[in-house]
Amino acid sequence: MEWLDLRSDTVTRPSAAMRAAMNVAEVGDDVYGDDPTVNRLQEYAADLFGFEDALFAPSGTQSNLLALLAHCGRGDEYLVGQEAHTYRYEGGGAAVLGSIQPQPIINQADGSIALADIESYIKPDDFHFARTKLLALENTINGRVLPLDYVQQATTLAHGRGLSTHLDGARVCNAAVKLGVSPRDITRGFDSVSVCLSKGLGAPVGSVLLGTKPLIKEAKRWRKMLGGGMRQAGVIAAGGLYALEHNIPRLQEDHDNAAYFAGELAKMKGLKVSTPQTNIFYVDIPQFVMQGLGDVLELTHIRVSMSQRLRIVTHMDAKRDDIDRAITVFGDFFG
Ligand SMILES: *Cc1c(COP(=O)(O)O)cnc(C)c1O
Repeated sequence: MEWLDLRSDTVTRPSAAMRAAMNVAEVGDDVYGDDPTVNRLQEYAADLFGFEDALFAPSGTQSNLLALLAHCGRGDEYLVGQEAHTYRYEGGGAAVLGSIQPQPIINQADGSIALADIESYIKPDDFHFARTKLLALENTINGRVLPLDYVQQATTLAHGRGLSTHLDGARVCNAAVKLGVSPRDITRGFDSVSVCLSKGLGAPVGSVLLGTKPLIKEAKRWRKMLGGGMRQAGVIAAGGLYALEHNIPRLQEDHDNAAYFAGELAKMKGLKVSTPQTNIFYVDIPQFVMQGLGDVLELTHIRVSMSQRLRIVTHMDAKRDDIDRAITVFGDFFG
């Protein structure tokens, strides 16, 4: 039996068409700026997201880190959500490598950071405090889409107080598809944005960082220092370019599958299911059945993230048939 892996959309594999594009990619040495495919990807991404320039990075973690290092110096701080990937799941890179202090702020139920909190955590210009330099938001955040008017208000507030703004837009295309707007409508108001190509978009490797020319120049210096300067990277950039050109509209299918799966699970006794806005949702199950469910999923070759609750992520390698198979397994277990 094939494994059905719903732990994350990072598990997606390059399609035959994407591999074909990678196979014929023109390449050069990207550290010299000579890789035509990397350059095309960067130009395409800059245009798509409405930025002056872009930089290809090996991962979203590095792309976010490049942005933090480009915006903040030693002894500066950035405002960030408690639940944000940058703060929680990136090994404290900004602190370790940039001496940048995070100021984590509680996220509200919709994933946003309250404007009043942003305001109150900006430190006065006084030598007792770290210098508050940057506001970092995340969209989508654990599958939730930040409202457009909130983003506009938060970035305007930050800029008005002299801060820069960064968006961890690992899944920003899911947000655009959900709201039915173009990607640049979501990224407007940010000085930099990091976008993952290797999640729902289906590329095997890579992220792009977007920003002004001077910011990207600075980020490029950091990327080299961190060991992220790659040579004939066009082979992987071709997958990323293919992803941006072909795989954005189809994210709707992942959202539909998540809504369908969550709807069916919600009918089962004892399950508390979050309503998915995009391709991620959570299921609270009684702790005493966790082990038993884990065993059944293992036997039936289904993977979901299991900690306090289940996290289920839909993606292009999980078709409606696969979701139906999972629904049957859950139904048999909880029925
Ligand atoms: C996955 C992810 C990242 C990091 O991407 P990697 O390529 O895994 O390093 C950053 N932010 C968010 C919100 C993510 O989901």
